[in-house]
Amino acid sequence: MTPETRIEAFDIVISGAGIGALTLANYLAPLGFKILILDRRPAFDPLHRGELVQPLGLAILEELSLLEALKQTPHTLYRSFDFLDDQGRLLMRSSYGMGEGPYPYALAIEPHLMDHLLAKNLSSYSHVVLRHESDFRDLTVDSSGVTAIYGRGGETRQVLARVLVGDDGRHSRVRELAHIPGTVESYRDSYLGGSLLLPEDLASLTPAVRESAGRYFLGPRSIFFFFSVSERRRFFLVLLPERNREKFFSKGVEAVLEKLDRHVPGFAEIARKNGLDKAEDFVELSVWKVDLERWCADGVVLLGDAAHAMNPHVAQGRNQAMEDARVLAPVLARALLSGPLVRREALLPYERARIPVTRSLHRLADEMTRVWNSGNPLVVRAREAAFRGIGRIPSLERKIVTTIGGTRILPLTLWDKIRALAAGLFPS
Ligand SMILES: Cc1cc2nc3c(=O)[nH]c(=O)nc-3n(C[C@H](O)[C@H](O)[C@H](O)COP(=O)(O)OP(=O)(O)OC[C@H]3O[C@@H](n4cnc5c(N)ncnc54)[C@H](O)[C@@H]3O)c2cc1C
Repeated sequence: MTPETRIEAFDIVISGAGIGALTLANYLAPLGFKILILDRRPAFDPLHRGELVQPLGLAILEELSLLEALKQTPHTLYRSFDFLDDQGRLLMRSSYGMGEGPYPYALAIEPHLMDHLLAKNLSSYSHVVLRHESDFRDLTVDSSGVTAIYGRGGETRQVLARVLVGDDGRHSRVRELAHIPGTVESYRDSYLGGSLLLPEDLASLTPAVRESAGRYFLGPRSIFFFFSVSERRRFFLVLLPERNREKFFSKGVEAVLEKLDRHVPGFAEIARKNGLDKAEDFVELSVWKVDLERWCADGVVLLGDAAHAMNPHVAQGRNQAMEDARVLAPVLARALLSGPLVRREALLPYERARIPVTRSLHRLADEMTRVWNSGNPLVVRAREAAFRGIGRIPSLERKIVTTIGGTRILPLTLWDKIRALAAGLFPS
């Protein structure tokens, strides 16, 4: 290579500007590391979908001094969520106040707004570069570092780093090129989702649409989650069994809207006003599981969905990507002192701390999927009884809410489940 074509060099190159990457860069930027973040998207475009920032994510934002700024961004604060049956009868109200930790609430937000906030904070560091429209393609690793190859504006470019971080999502190219073994599979069922903008005159709406209560309606082989992400935006997810749109819409879109309207009166009208009158207008959100044997190799480390995409039943993917970043940041900071290439051994403390946590969330999510997505009448009856029972036993509710909050994973034991079932079937 001639001096004229000298290759750009950074301490860290991150492929993918997901929440994991942005959180990691926010932890490491004040330490002075040179960081390049590449993302193939042209910008952080609105996704118009809703996600929950759980107490775990709130604690991380507080640590980064960004929580107050997030609270100035449009969001809805949830102290509890309601679980209802197919007839709209309350099964359980799960209140964050019952959980451990300093935050008795979660924030529902449109994720791109949060990404913007974290990216804006990075823009004050001249040694951190965020490059959109940059498609990471290839890598080579040798003792002088990692060379990352990416495409931008029709050109192929390369950059040298001491470590390449893969935050490039469930179909991670970094993971593939680093030959990291494990399971990458989609769940049998997916979701249809939609974002609804309410009219300015909120008083004209039905209370069920206007109010911001977060409600999960669980029926046989049906789930409908309706919640608010700001004063005028609502978001919903509907289970799409077997990912079969044709079957789901076999009686027409109107029949689907009317069914959802029985749960949330006024929903159908708002959905129609938002242009949801054709099956194609419902966006499919597929659900993946990534469960790997390792998260790092010489010169390469994964985080977020690239390492552990999980079922949204646990509402944790974004929060766990942030936790990856929090745990990885000090490990990387130390490892970067050790030479031109960050070796796998130096990254092991991160992998050892994080894989067991995400594995237990996978186990929990799989169990929830079996129970929540079921159409078997016995399972449905047992599920409804267990929900009622959990609501009657404070120690079990505490476990559930703490786990969903993400600060500690406390799955129910077999004995807990028997107690919940008994309390639901035979209230004292
Ligand atoms: C229906 C649904 C609901 C969810 N609800 C919640 C919730 O309530 N709470 C929660 O915590 N989580 C939730 N999640 C999960 C959450 O969305 C993800 O876990 C989270 O966004 C993952 O973040 P990440 O950092 O892994 O990056 P990702 O969001 O996966 O972003 C990856 C980035 O990499 C970029 N990229 C990919 N390949 C390349 C390449 N070759 N070169 C350059 N760039 C590349 C992409 O453009 C993208 O910007 C939900 C998920 C789904 C599907």
